[in-house]
Amino acid sequence: MKALVFGCTGQDGSLLCRSLLRQGVEVVGLSRSSNPNLATHQQLGIAGDLELTTADLCDFREILELITRHQPDAIYNLAAQSSVGLSFRQPVDTFNSIINGTINLLEVARFASFDGRLYFAGSSEIFGNTDQPAGVGSLRHPLSPYAIAKDASFNTVQVYRQAYGLKCVTGVLFNHESPYRSATFVTRKIVDGALRCLRDPGFRLQLGDLSVARDWGWAEEYIEAMQLILHADPLQDQVICTGRMETLEYFVARVFRELDLDWHDHVDLVASLRRPSEILCSVGDPAPMQDRHGWRARRDVDGVITALIAHARQASLP
Ligand code: NDP
Repeated sequence: MKALVFGCTGQDGSLLCRSLLRQGVEVVGLSRSSNPNLATHQQLGIAGDLELTTADLCDFREILELITRHQPDAIYNLAAQSSVGLSFRQPVDTFNSIINGTINLLEVARFASFDGRLYFAGSSEIFGNTDQPAGVGSLRHPLSPYAIAKDASFNTVQVYRQAYGLKCVTGVLFNHESPYRSATFVTRKIVDGALRCLRDPGFRLQLGDLSVARDWGWAEEYIEAMQLILHADPLQDQVICTGRMETLEYFVARVFRELDLDWHDHVDLVASLRRPSEILCSVGDPAPMQDRHGWRARRDVDGVITALIAHARQASLP
């Protein structure tokens, strides 16, 4: 078995590569950079265990050459400018990375009569606010450039599956965390900030709107779910979530409480950190994944917080 992983240096890409390698799959990891940031691969102990290649997901010839040369059984498209906040400041780059990359990959796969399976990392941001737990058939109301690009890509994957019989599928992922999340994401910022408050009581953590509510899960588990979806017959898009929603205030309070701190003493709420348009509540319906694949999230928000703090404390030990 051989897999191509686009976005292999990111949180999910790195964890997926490790999971595939453990299963004996030959992995080719793709990065935009000829000098990729391999910090997460090193932390996970997989640096050097996979073949790394530079590729521009939007370049037809380059991707065609890759697929023809490697003849992979599976392709995972995880590459994206993945920050919702940044997508307001860099909408063109965000669009290019998500929709142009996805349609180019699908078009190459169609042109090359690719017979393997192709996974696309969708996002719960496509739903906007969820009145009730969202499933793949729920109404969609994207509220950011990132969400619009993920929505268009989700539709495109469906069209290529239905119109051309391509074995492609989307896992619509709700937020999922790990110690390998970039430090710019809010969950990591909160954990790192709270630990800094322990060392330096004068430090102030600046955050935006704490009333927003999310469905947080654990990345390693979501990697398992992606593979189940990709290898099922018939292929069906699925939502990957825990089904539990909590506010960011809950997240902050719990992190600080685990460190015996009161967040009110250490956090400043800053209006400039609010997004131009924000999803207030986002939660998924976990039942289809449980019914179809027997998969359910084992760690919800509380488990995620405990694990993140444990890892951060371990990492800060001398
Ligand atoms: P990361 O941001 O950690 O990794 C994404 C990877 O994509 C990066 O390592 C980078 O690799 C590549 N990339 C970054 N910017 C661009 C760009 N402008 N153009 C092309 N490639 C780029 O994301 P995650 O691992 O957290 O997420 C994986 C996928 O899942 C993404 O598509 C994300 O949108 C989606 N997703 C993630 C969620 C989450 O909670 N983590 C929730 C919902 C969806 P390199 O620099 O080496 O090219």
